[in-house]
Amino acid sequence: MSSSATPSSSYITPQVEGEKIFISYNHIHQLCQESAQKIKPLDIDLIIAIGGGGFIPARMLRTFLKEEGQPNLKIFAIILSLYEDLNSFSTDAEEAGTQVKRIQWINYEESKMDLCNKKVLIVDEVDDTRTTLHYALQELKKDAVSQAKSKGLEDSNTEFFIFTLHNKLKEKRATLPDEIMDGRHYLAARELPDYWIAYPWESADIVNHQKMAELQGYEI
Ligand code: 5GP
Repeated sequence: MSSSATPSSSYITPQVEGEKIFISYNHIHQLCQESAQKIKPLDIDLIIAIGGGGFIPARMLRTFLKEEGQPNLKIFAIILSLYEDLNSFSTDAEEAGTQVKRIQWINYEESKMDLCNKKVLIVDEVDDTRTTLHYALQELKKDAVSQAKSKGLEDSNTEFFIFTLHNKLKEKRATLPDEIMDGRHYLAARELPDYWIAYPWESADIVNHQKMAELQGYEI
């Protein structure tokens, strides 16, 4: 899995400052279908969706990752909220982490979810400042280590992957480790310049949203 340095999408980007990039449901569906072809060979064991934006892409992706005769992949949900501290610009892991608040996390006991020896796909809709992905990965890694410890294992042997619909090409506030950015473990379906992306599930006027998406061009 790789993300190149230049925009790979055919979206018409806004000409006017403050304008948004409108993305349609169909387009997102197609991005998930296309991306699933790259993700399938990885043999993912479970999906962790970061809500709210990661929920719908995760569900669409699951459809296309389904193997005949195999059960659907389980999707676990975490919800994170980002606190924008406009005075701080840091790539420091801990500092970036403090800007994120957990709204909901996985109840490992109740769900009997085990991260050990699993290939885990983390899904979000957009990699903007990267703070959320950084935090989610860091915390899930900690969970995997503590699950391994509780079983007397030295290593959890968990392999994490990240999928987003969009990666904004901009200076990031947080980093992802080399083992993720190795060209195989991180996939953004499209790269975009730093404009606000309007996703359909946020729209209060889906008919107009669809029109705008068509006007801007969202073909794959
Ligand atoms: P981060 O800055 O941590 O990468 O992104 C935090 C969250 O902000 C994302 O998960 C997403 O929900 C939201 N976000 C960031 N940029 C955009 C955008 O352009 N459009 C929308 N709809 N949400 C965004």
